[in-house]
Amino acid sequence: MLYDNLGINDQGHLTVGGLDTVRLAEKFGAPLYVLDEDRVRENCRTYVQAMAQYLPEHSMPLFAGKALCFKGLYPVLEEEGMGADVVSPGEIYTALAGGFPADKLYFHGNNKTDEDIAYALDNGVGCFIVDNHQELEALDRAAAQRGKRQRVLLRVTPGIDPHTLQAINTGRIDCQFGVPIETGQAARFVAAALTMEHLEVEGFHSHIGSQIFEAEPFCDAVDILLDFAQGLRQDLGFVARTFNLGGGFGVRYRDSDPVVDIPANIQALADHLTQGCLAKGYPLPRILLEPGRSIVADAGLTLYRVGGEKTIEGYRSYLTVNGGMTDNPRYALYQSPYTVLPANRMQEPRDFVCTIAGRCCESGDLIQENISLPHLGRDDLIAVLTTGAYNFTMASNYNRLCRPALVMVRQGKARLAVRRQTFADLVACDL
Ligand SMILES: *Cc1c(COP(=O)(O)O)cnc(C)c1O
Repeated sequence: MLYDNLGINDQGHLTVGGLDTVRLAEKFGAPLYVLDEDRVRENCRTYVQAMAQYLPEHSMPLFAGKALCFKGLYPVLEEEGMGADVVSPGEIYTALAGGFPADKLYFHGNNKTDEDIAYALDNGVGCFIVDNHQELEALDRAAAQRGKRQRVLLRVTPGIDPHTLQAINTGRIDCQFGVPIETGQAARFVAAALTMEHLEVEGFHSHIGSQIFEAEPFCDAVDILLDFAQGLRQDLGFVARTFNLGGGFGVRYRDSDPVVDIPANIQALADHLTQGCLAKGYPLPRILLEPGRSIVADAGLTLYRVGGEKTIEGYRSYLTVNGGMTDNPRYALYQSPYTVLPANRMQEPRDFVCTIAGRCCESGDLIQENISLPHLGRDDLIAVLTTGAYNFTMASNYNRLCRPALVMVRQGKARLAVRRQTFADLVACDL
């Protein structure tokens, strides 16, 4: 099994967190998002403990809400000592509705509107991660109107390619997020920020990409940020107290993917930072990390009912399921790999190679290709693993399909955290 929270019971059913997935689908319906809360908590603790142990004081992980965002997640994050990243007023609203403290929110986004800025300021968001010069001016103005001094980090691009997919790689120079260091623009960006009376510049943010399996690209980012920071200290007398290195540690979608040892990576990063600061005589900054995927991806799975098999003779066989790109668009978007299991027939030989097709009116609506399963029929159940990140948050109502429910599993009990949409929900905004 891909993860140790999965099992097979004596009926040959897949279990998650000790619960029978077949019973979960009977009770809550399918498609169904299942999130193992114990595993989310474990993943949070891994970061919180390793960062406290190895990194400078006040270092902290921030959960990236774009990976998964619903009210019931936020009390879990808070209890586990996480901060949180938000990228829109909608995410701010959700976090606050879930009781999360505003001062532990970090507000991202490359195009925050005046309304977004006002909303975040009026709700006491702790820190803005400012993406560009226009935002700097708009935020300074809005903070001045409110007689506030707002904490900010400045987003810079270190120009690193961590050798991941283009579509999810944001550390390169040529991208729409942040201000590049290499062209000299980032230094001018910082200089401008320091002149603004209503902003308190804490330090820098950089995010180099996703699905990164080792510490090295983060160490490279630290080197570049330290050089940059040292230059600014000499030129402007400004000392950065915080480096936010973004998210991006990878997770295992398949058995063939490597296992990431997060504490070992954080230790390696800490050693590298300490040496770099020592060599330059630079005061140790606190470190923020923004894990999204590596907190929730492996805690989630999706259950689907099978519709049937369809074989195109001489070509391939399809297995249709009662969801698709509406609840998981990631294969359609960038061919993301997944492990698929026959949830109610785990002990049968997997000798049927098929493509899992969703129910949407798009030939690209596939969940995965070339999967080995037993021959399955109507009402069998399949589980797609590692769907805890970027599934729920990327879901749509295409074809007017209702979004699935989300169930949280904790200590052998399941509770509904997000109910399934109804047809009434589908027309709720229609006038
Ligand atoms: C996407 C993103 C994250 C989270 O990335 P993961 O790969 O899910 O860990 C964190 N910070 C920023 C700025 C991002 O864009």
